[in-house]
Amino acid sequence: MAQYVRNVRGIQLSQANCSLAGVGVSCRGLLSSLSSEDTMPTTPGLSRKYPDCYLAPRKYALVISCVDCRLLDDLVRFLDHDNLTNRYYHLTFAGAAIGLSDDAPVYYPKCEPPKKHTCEPMDFSQWKQMLYDHLELVLKLTKGELTDVYIVEHMDCGAYRTFLDVDYYKDPANPDLEAESDEHRNRAEALAEELGEWFSSVRAAELATELKEQFGVQSLSPPIVRGFLMDLRGNVKRLFEPLPAGKRGKKSRQIVGSAGGDCYV
Ligand SMILES: [Zn+2]
Repeated sequence: MAQYVRNVRGIQLSQANCSLAGVGVSCRGLLSSLSSEDTMPTTPGLSRKYPDCYLAPRKYALVISCVDCRLLDDLVRFLDHDNLTNRYYHLTFAGAAIGLSDDAPVYYPKCEPPKKHTCEPMDFSQWKQMLYDHLELVLKLTKGELTDVYIVEHMDCGAYRTFLDVDYYKDPANPDLEAESDEHRNRAEALAEELGEWFSSVRAAELATELKEQFGVQSLSPPIVRGFLMDLRGNVKRLFEPLPAGKRGKKSRQIVGSAGGDCYV
């Protein structure tokens, strides 16, 4: 059961220590008389909504997220919730999946106005190479025990707005959240499929041989790649359902409806 603390003029009361509070009134009555605004979860993560009905990572995880500084603390809370404290490797790219997708938009960073391009476009292939360089390093550091990859997208992403030249919040009172969510899902799902396919590549086979020779690793299993979308309050929903081992790299099935309470492993 969740523990709630109420702070009244410097005195912290909770259901757990109520009998020890030493006040001359019923703690239960006092607690229930306080307004809801006085109630704070004892664990910050409890105030966020997370999908939790899936198998938490068993070994190590690789987290791929955006560089957005507004959500770094929320990302850590989410990963703590999945019992990943000090157990994940973290890579950040502006926009996360969009700059790592095969059909990343051509982006001219120095041209004004953006429609009249005179500069060299940004080379997203370097970002992708960085991803795979680090994936190999993580597989070596963990001796092949990378069981999960988290692609964590977020809403109101400046990279999506800049790279796609689209503003889902043009009307802040009526933002196009469905189109925004769909774009993140498509980009993240494409990246997940590509990562899965990499484990069938020649380079992955070479790495598997190296791991076997160096550490006695019998096989290099592809991790489960999950996609998430975080809103600006730190709430998280799943973007797609990962495929089971042996079928990764092929088209994933899209989750229908709210991802918050759906169960899968
Ligand atoms: Zn972003």
